[in-house]
Amino acid sequence: MQQDLRSMNLEEMAALLAEAGQPAFRAKQLFGWIHQKQVAHMEQMHNLGKPLLSYLEQHCHITVMELERKQVSRDGTEKFLFRLADGNDIECVLMRYRGDLSKQRNTLCISSQVGCAMGCTFCATGQGGFVRNLTVGEIVSQVYEVNRHLQAEGDELPVGNVVFMGMGEPLLNLDHVLQAIGLLNHPQGQQIGIRRITVSTCGIVPKLQELAQQKLDLVLAVSLHAPNNEQRSSVMPVNRQYPLEQLMAACRKYQAINRNRISFEYALIAGFNDQPVHVQQLKQLLQGMDCHLNIIPVNPVANTAQFSRPDKKQVSAFVKALQKAGLKASVREEKGTDIDGACGQLRGKVLKQQQSV
Ligand code: SF4
Repeated sequence: MQQDLRSMNLEEMAALLAEAGQPAFRAKQLFGWIHQKQVAHMEQMHNLGKPLLSYLEQHCHITVMELERKQVSRDGTEKFLFRLADGNDIECVLMRYRGDLSKQRNTLCISSQVGCAMGCTFCATGQGGFVRNLTVGEIVSQVYEVNRHLQAEGDELPVGNVVFMGMGEPLLNLDHVLQAIGLLNHPQGQQIGIRRITVSTCGIVPKLQELAQQKLDLVLAVSLHAPNNEQRSSVMPVNRQYPLEQLMAACRKYQAINRNRISFEYALIAGFNDQPVHVQQLKQLLQGMDCHLNIIPVNPVANTAQFSRPDKKQVSAFVKALQKAGLKASVREEKGTDIDGACGQLRGKVLKQQQSV
């Protein structure tokens, strides 16, 4: 089977090229073409020499993803739907932050799986079920393809922040996610700082422990969404397997090892998890932990009409109550709500259209 060059690290390329009888320096050249210059076609790697190029063409390929659809929000957020080689679709969302020069950045929210097995009831991806894990090449290609798009548009800023908050549970594809992070962070690749990479999990406790052992300086985000087991289990089935006591113990252990502040994501649902009692429960749950609560007014998702979005006043009252209780909390700046911005919504729409033709 042909190997995917975008899935390979420097050592793997060195081994491949040694097998091909090539000098060692070629591995760095090849790595630079694939992960720094982000080429999509072998013939672009013009300094490798014909014999090596024809060897690579015989034994390898480069992951390609076709842009199937793109939506642009009024606020400039862009949502990409990419079609993979096997016909599956994945989404990623580009958020351009402007303003102060020092704060300008392009952040890409990427997927780690096709679909997701976790079945969170407020999530369009969760409602569609799990299809498969993404390869390392498919994960990094989301960044490379969007960089190409930025370049074509004359945007000089490449993707500088990566957030694993798209489709899928990254910790259930941990090996590939870690390898992809290694490539994105590599000094001869995109050099995306490790503190600019966020991994978000719904709370797979054993995998969280495994991630902690990697001692990576990345940002960990944990989807909390409800401060007690009964309510959390009702919207996040994973809570039945790993209830809050286990999850919080794993988070505390993670912090003892990695020392970084943990972000807790909290989708605020009107009349469900936005009451004073929830503030008290959150206070108890997070006591003594260095953490930040990101409050995200829930996005309307088809088939989940039971979740209503709180209005601005309710959101700000809830955040103020959390702050008064001594917690660090803020409202997540919302982007792309007019373009199916939440994960899985665009793929869900396209799947439905395909099914109805
Ligand atoms: S919210 Fe995340 S973990 Fe939950 S179903 Fe959606 S993609 Fe999966």
